Amino acid sequence: MTTHTLKGKTALVTGSTSGIGLGIAKALAQQGANIVLNGFGDHAGPQAEIAALGVQTAYHGADMSKASEIEAMMQFAAEQWGGVDILVNNAGIQHVASVEDFPVERWDAIIAINLSSAFHTSRLALPYMKQKNWGRIINVASVHGLVASAQKSAYVAAKHGIVGLTKVTALETATTGVTCNAICPGWVLTPLVQKQVDAKAHALGISNDEATKLLLGEKEPSLQFTTPEELGELAVFFCSKSAQNVRGVAWNMDGGWTAQ
Ligand code: NAD
Repeated sequence: MTTHTLKGKTALVTGSTSGIGLGIAKALAQQGANIVLNGFGDHAGPQAEIAALGVQTAYHGADMSKASEIEAMMQFAAEQWGGVDILVNNAGIQHVASVEDFPVERWDAIIAINLSSAFHTSRLALPYMKQKNWGRIINVASVHGLVASAQKSAYVAAKHGIVGLTKVTALETATTGVTCNAICPGWVLTPLVQKQVDAKAHALGISNDEATKLLLGEKEPSLQFTTPEELGELAVFFCSKSAQNVRGVAWNMDGGWTAQ
């Protein structure tokens, strides 16, 4: 339902052509925010879905591993609607290998896309937010920002890093109308996780269904995936007036993963 609590605001969601980013973009659009989409692959489909919610949308294909392209994207958003009121740092990739076998190029890419990109977008968004004395920065971290799993060194390092960046940003804006918080999902069935399910099914010679049950059973007590829609609702809450004093939290939505 469109209730327009964010009408007139501009939200930029990195990595929003699929999965969690698209879910959050749609939830913000349902509240009336204009949306700048970013990410690889088809963007016409996601843009049409957002436009159908009655808001304006634009797309910029910046590669989040490149500071110069991030600068161009932030400039583009400013030219469209003056500046970014709601920044959702969501773009992310995964690679699974032990520390000694981790390809150096994958390590660098994960740190750049999952962590450094949030520094670049935040440093460029903050002056406008501070000037308007209103802004929301939402960093999509992970349960892996709070706890570790084997074989995910770069991802866990980047996600712990973005939780740290969230806290520092929250402290530096604490007396202003700008807030910064992190969302820490457990398993969400998106293309990023589907690849891990497929790899498990292949490695163990089991069906996709069995691999999914195994994946959830290992870590997530609820045995349920969190959905992009649920994460979108949490992002909408962070943007609400009631959340004006929620600052620097790393809010898990993980079916009990980190309660263990
Ligand atoms: P996804 O693969 O569905 O989406 C990732 C998005 O990032 C896509 O739009 C993709 O095009 C974009 N992207 C990738 N590399 C990019 C780059 N260099 N520049 C610009 N865009 C790029 O994955 P998802 O599961 O929706 O993941 C989104 C975020 O949520 C990630 O930060 C991920 O770490 C985090 N997360 C996911 C899960 C999960 O279970 N799926 C759990 C916790 C956290």
